[in-house]
Amino acid sequence: VGERLVVIGGDAAGMSAASQARRLRPDLEIVALERGTRTSYSACGIPYLVGGAVHDVESLVARSPRDFRDRFRIDVRLRHEAVAIDLDRRSVEVRDHGHDRTLSVGFDQLMIGTGARPFRPPIPGIDLPTVHGVQTLEDGERLLEAARRARCERVVVVGGGYIGLEMAEAFVERGAEVTLVEGDRQVMRTLDEDMADLVAGAVRKHGIDLRLGVPVTGFEPGTVHTAGGDVAADLVVLGLGVLPNGELAAEAGLATGSRGAIVVNRRQQTAAEGVWAAGDCAESFHLVSQRHLHIALGTVANKQGRVAGVNIGGGYATFPGVVGTAATKVCATEVARTGLTEREAAIDGFRFVTARIDSTTRAGYFPGAGPITVKLVAERETGRLLGGQLVGQEGAAKRVDVLATALSARMTVHDLVDLDLSYAPPFAPVWDPVLVAARKAAAAVDADRR
Ligand SMILES: Cc1cc2nc3c(=O)[nH]c(=O)nc-3n(C[C@H](O)[C@H](O)[C@H](O)COP(=O)(O)OP(=O)(O)OC[C@H]3O[C@@H](n4cnc5c(N)ncnc54)[C@H](O)[C@@H]3O)c2cc1C
Repeated sequence: VGERLVVIGGDAAGMSAASQARRLRPDLEIVALERGTRTSYSACGIPYLVGGAVHDVESLVARSPRDFRDRFRIDVRLRHEAVAIDLDRRSVEVRDHGHDRTLSVGFDQLMIGTGARPFRPPIPGIDLPTVHGVQTLEDGERLLEAARRARCERVVVVGGGYIGLEMAEAFVERGAEVTLVEGDRQVMRTLDEDMADLVAGAVRKHGIDLRLGVPVTGFEPGTVHTAGGDVAADLVVLGLGVLPNGELAAEAGLATGSRGAIVVNRRQQTAAEGVWAAGDCAESFHLVSQRHLHIALGTVANKQGRVAGVNIGGGYATFPGVVGTAATKVCATEVARTGLTEREAAIDGFRFVTARIDSTTRAGYFPGAGPITVKLVAERETGRLLGGQLVGQEGAAKRVDVLATALSARMTVHDLVDLDLSYAPPFAPVWDPVLVAARKAAAAVDADRR
């Protein structure tokens, strides 16, 4: 009998691992268990589906179960939920929801790609049917239906992270009256407050009623109770972050760490032989802070899944870590961040300087040039770049990739100043905003040395 790989979770991490393992091991029997009805879908596209920029929900599916079966010979089993893992007997107990039965599937190798779920704090009424999390395409379809319904006029989004902001924009696009309530004093906790204020300004300008510093205290049909008063709501969308689905692994005896995410080594292997984990259910290593943390991003899930798949297939691959790079768009404003914010650098005990500059996304005279603000954080003694944040008009966000590259290469802000970045009026001023910020940060480092 040949060797069998069982994959739990049919999205980015699980199916990247499965397809990579197949490329390397044509002989492997691969069974993929997915409790939902789709494989390899882009949850990232849900806000654009609900907002109307994307018209067809199926276009968000990168590879269907049929593709996996026909082209990759992967036995995809939909509506099959793994309910327990027995590491001694090397088997997974599976609930087949389609046939209302439970079965046991043995494995030689096991890949856990169970993802994460929207965080639902124990607030009274949070389980009401009008309170929606956003995770699967089924969630997206439900929200799209609600957005199209005439009755859905007042939408309350709870939480000002990037998913909350993207969903708020989506409902504004559909003509709803949108209130965004956030318990913290700022939106986007992944930015420093001064940069988040720029985002808040853009959100308000777009007609979203943004209420900061008002925690939600309860939900009732038609009403959201907050510390700052009641808000009428036909529909509530949660954007309070996600929690890793690490319970199955933990119950099987595998170690979990940050927020309950599964502990893995750099090859995405757990402490158990032949058992791997990747994506939103697993921990990542942060290359700047040198900490293990939980980071839920599609980019990371795909890469980690691929690394796991190479190793499952008998090759050798490692995932060196993340620098915390993320980008989003809120209305016409682009937002991006990488590395450590000023707040995070302080928590991690770095001594640092910061530099913040305002510039334009294109040559100032070129049509469509818009404002951009860049903030850099650099280590005080060495000048090493620790992080960067950008908020601005079209063309702002992808500049973060230069900073992410610099972080991975452990460059100083002085190195950054010397980079030969591109210039032509439609793309940048002659001094790119990233370079202007680097120059200012380098000057701050030098001033400190004198
Ligand atoms: C609205 C939204 C916007 C986003 N935008 C971005 C973005 O712009 N950029 C970015 O990088 N990331 C973005 N993300 C995050 C990205 O979607 C996730 O990081 C990525 O999907 C993680 O992939 P995964 O395979 O680890 O987990 P998931 O995508 O969560 O997949 C896990 C799968 O496992 C299945 N499963 C779970 N438990 C079981 C079980 N016991 N048995 C069987 N099946 C199980 C689930 O049904 C699910 O299909 C966004 C997410 C959302 C919700």
